[in-house]
Amino acid sequence: MNERHQTLRGTDTRAAIGLQRLRLLATRMLAIATVATACHSAASAQPAWRQVPGVYRMQIGNFRVTALSDGTALRDLSQIMSKPADVRQSYAAAHEDLPTELSINCFLIDTGDHRILVDTGAGELFGPGSGGLVTAMRAAGYEPASIDVILLTHIHGDHSGGLSIRGQPVFPNAVVRVDRRDPEYWLSVAAEAAAPAALKQTFKQSHQTVDPYVQAGRLQPFDGRTVLYSGISSVPEYGHTPGHSGYLIESKGQRLLLWGDIIHSAEIQFHDPTVTIEYDVDREAAITSRQQALAKAAQDGDLVGGAHLSFPGIGHVRAEGSGFAWLPAPYSAAVPPGQASRKEAPQ
Ligand SMILES: [Zn+2]
Ligand SMILES: [Zn+2]
Repeated sequence: MNERHQTLRGTDTRAAIGLQRLRLLATRMLAIATVATACHSAASAQPAWRQVPGVYRMQIGNFRVTALSDGTALRDLSQIMSKPADVRQSYAAAHEDLPTELSINCFLIDTGDHRILVDTGAGELFGPGSGGLVTAMRAAGYEPASIDVILLTHIHGDHSGGLSIRGQPVFPNAVVRVDRRDPEYWLSVAAEAAAPAALKQTFKQSHQTVDPYVQAGRLQPFDGRTVLYSGISSVPEYGHTPGHSGYLIESKGQRLLLWGDIIHSAEIQFHDPTVTIEYDVDREAAITSRQQALAKAAQDGDLVGGAHLSFPGIGHVRAEGSGFAWLPAPYSAAVPPGQASRKEAPQ
């Protein structure tokens, strides 16, 4: 070892310390930059656009009923409903735009003995704004395999579309119940051949989503007004489709009518039930069914659930003028009566 060597070593040591400081400084600067980037990302990056799964629970007597949102579908109703000028005027008066988003609602009835799903949403047929039923169902605590009965209000893409995805049944343990008039029409080769061009797509979609259940022997049609299960019966509302039906849910004196497509637009069809939509197979019969359903709901004061009323689509009907009015049910976060201790009233 000599002095020069010592000096060199000293130089090496000072250089090493300098390098270490530089590294430390660089690490700190990187850390500061990372935090700054994270803060910037937190401020500017937004969560995905889609709503969280739509789930709304109710109790009807002993039955737990859960409204499940499949999503929405954008429609310019002035293009597809009768009386387009009235439709436009009704939406303007409601401060709403056209096209508008139509809710697609399904309902799950947990009776204790059965898990019954009323309608299945659009599945893969309508694009990304819909097809959320299974996600909503799981958010509500139900697996598709736990459903043992599916009641279709009718066969149409936004009601039966969710039965199958890519040709495979989504509900492996369910029987599908529907008024026999619908499969006799929508699965009929002769009816398809005689149908107008505008309906051909619906026939194709019907086969695509219902056929897997037919092939598995799990399509069980019924005929008209029928008590299907204890507390659950079908209510013929023919016209929109040949077998279009509502389902009346009754338990311990409480009633809920799930009426399918009686109303597509709350903005105009309560006020004027004679307004029809181009999806109606028989428009005159659809008007008659709508008027009867509205009059009965208004008279009896039954709770109603609609497939296309804004989610969760639950409320009452009141007679008003020459038509009717829709009264959405108040939102409730309460647990069922008898299971809550309501110590404090809202102030
Ligand atoms: Zn329909
Ligand atoms: Zn519909």
